[in-house]
Amino acid sequence: MTTDVPHKRLFLPGPVEVAPEVRAAMSTPMIGHRMSECSDLIRRIRPKLQQALFTKNPVFLGTAAATGFQEACFRNLCAQRALSAVCGAFSERFALMGQANGKPTDTYAVEWGQPNTADVIGEKLASRKYDLFTMVHNETSTGVMNPVEEIARVMRDFPEVMFCVDAVSSLGGVKIEPDRLGIDVLFASVQKAFALPPGFTVLAVSERAIEKAKTVKDRGNYFDFVEMREYDKKDQTPFTPSIAHMFALDRQLDRMLKEGVENRFARHQAMQQRAHGWGREKFGLFAKPGYESVTLTVFRNQNRFEFKALNSHLSATRGLVIGDGYGKIKGSTFRIGHMGDATLGDLNEVLSGIDEFLAKH
Ligand SMILES: *Cc1c(COP(=O)(O)O)cnc(C)c1O
Repeated sequence: MTTDVPHKRLFLPGPVEVAPEVRAAMSTPMIGHRMSECSDLIRRIRPKLQQALFTKNPVFLGTAAATGFQEACFRNLCAQRALSAVCGAFSERFALMGQANGKPTDTYAVEWGQPNTADVIGEKLASRKYDLFTMVHNETSTGVMNPVEEIARVMRDFPEVMFCVDAVSSLGGVKIEPDRLGIDVLFASVQKAFALPPGFTVLAVSERAIEKAKTVKDRGNYFDFVEMREYDKKDQTPFTPSIAHMFALDRQLDRMLKEGVENRFARHQAMQQRAHGWGREKFGLFAKPGYESVTLTVFRNQNRFEFKALNSHLSATRGLVIGDGYGKIKGSTFRIGHMGDATLGDLNEVLSGIDEFLAKH
């Protein structure tokens, strides 16, 4: 560890630790969002972000939490009826965005801990009722990673359906190739595997999606993809963006590309192996075998201890915190985020802290 101001280190499934030099980039002296310096900044970020996201499509910088872009998928891309795959709390919220915005939305829900599967999605879409499909790649409440490659293969049979993927807690830590997979909107807020402060979202949006949006009424204004694309062509954003985040993103993309995205993915894989190997024998994992997340682990607590006592121990002895269970499985599960800039060494420290606690309880 490099020296840093004393603070609680975060091993939550977001927000996560932010490197001191990235935090420092946020206090770069301010520029105006219509100044050429801001367009220069956008032009610096764009090719790096496209490289990190494996896309040649437009990439947008969104000043909002990712939830805003869940809403945007419905507002921009649903004129008819949506199908939303649900497998936990975040995908449930994504589906609710349809209803909340007056879009007829059907859900394909599975039990928590289970994945959404390609065959069922294919069967449902075969009714030809839908023009939008939404899913969460990495369900942060259950630790399930959905089989996006298989789902993408099924989506090829439904070119009339817009394909929107919330990859909020996996993008930047797991390889997802939107152009190859035919994903129309792929998005993530940056406080998870991108390891930036919260409140900002990156997204890759296909030209096809922008063309479709042009035909959809009542898209709203703040999250209008058509408007975002028009400004993007001028290397601007429609409204005043969080320029501090953009400075930080520029710096973090440099760090990500310097590490090498493939090395970054391998580092996340190694942490997953370690967390899962350790947790499988001690607790059991919540996710169905074969569908476990790469960026976080949801462990079964089996009522062995009170989570608060564990976190107090970790905080007092090692200056770090992990995540409680989420939603209806809070209490019976707990979570460790092993994503962003975290290393295997960091994770080992977390696990040693838990082992130490368990020896006393
Ligand atoms: C954290 C998370 C969200 C919510 O992100 P915000 O930036 O808080 O809106 C949505 N989906 C998933 C899968 C998440 O992990």
